[in-house]
Amino acid sequence: MAFETVIIYQGPSLIDGEEIVVMAQRGSRNRKTGAMLQTFILRVDVDPVTASREGKDFSICGSCPHRGQAHDGDKGQAKNRSCYVTLAHSPLTKYKCFKRGGYAAIEGHAALAAFGKGEMVRIGTYGDGAAVPSYIWESLCSEAKGWTAYTHQSGMESAASDPKLYMTSVESEVQAKEAWLKGERTFRVIADVSQVVKGREILCPASEEMGKRSTCETCGLCAGASLKAKSIAIVAHGTSKKAAKQLVAA
Ligand code: SF4
Repeated sequence: MAFETVIIYQGPSLIDGEEIVVMAQRGSRNRKTGAMLQTFILRVDVDPVTASREGKDFSICGSCPHRGQAHDGDKGQAKNRSCYVTLAHSPLTKYKCFKRGGYAAIEGHAALAAFGKGEMVRIGTYGDGAAVPSYIWESLCSEAKGWTAYTHQSGMESAASDPKLYMTSVESEVQAKEAWLKGERTFRVIADVSQVVKGREILCPASEEMGKRSTCETCGLCAGASLKAKSIAIVAHGTSKKAAKQLVAA
């Protein structure tokens, strides 16, 4: 499959004003999501591993608890980071290529709409889409097949966390219930299937527990309150499983 990556935004983060860049990639080998258009949100001035270690990923992840704890060592990512995204893979590769000038930028509604046309868009493959002005996503998704999006920034005034676009990411049943009262749909990482709230949540069909019967590309349930559907729960998985389980069980 041919991959094609372009820059769709470079400018201030809506979270803290630092300069960020968004790269969109058509074509993907991701087994959970399927062949979705992937989007990577990164700091411009520092590689994603260092940004994690120094806490500078706040610009693109905001208050997400999966960032872990920054430290002043000289190698590696933040301590106890429980995010499922492996920074040394696609985010770092994308950052290096961006710094070498390897990607062209596209601008304006028509160009973004054409790039997203017919695709399933994954808003924030790495990074939180709410750090980016919403008109970027609106244009990219305007002729797309659909999208998935998750945010940890609901309640942060400067961020663009429209609940119609985003699933509200939560780590506890209490947080989920608060979000439901506001009409939001949630995406909740749980430690065990017994924690699913019956009638309000379903297990992600791409999860191991559900037999990986779907991919995000074909499912598309994580499209915020634009869909009238139940909220989603998923048992902690991936390389950071242990840390994520500790976080949601706390
Ligand atoms: S519920 Fe559907 S869209 Fe959401 S993570 Fe699972 S497979 Fe992807």
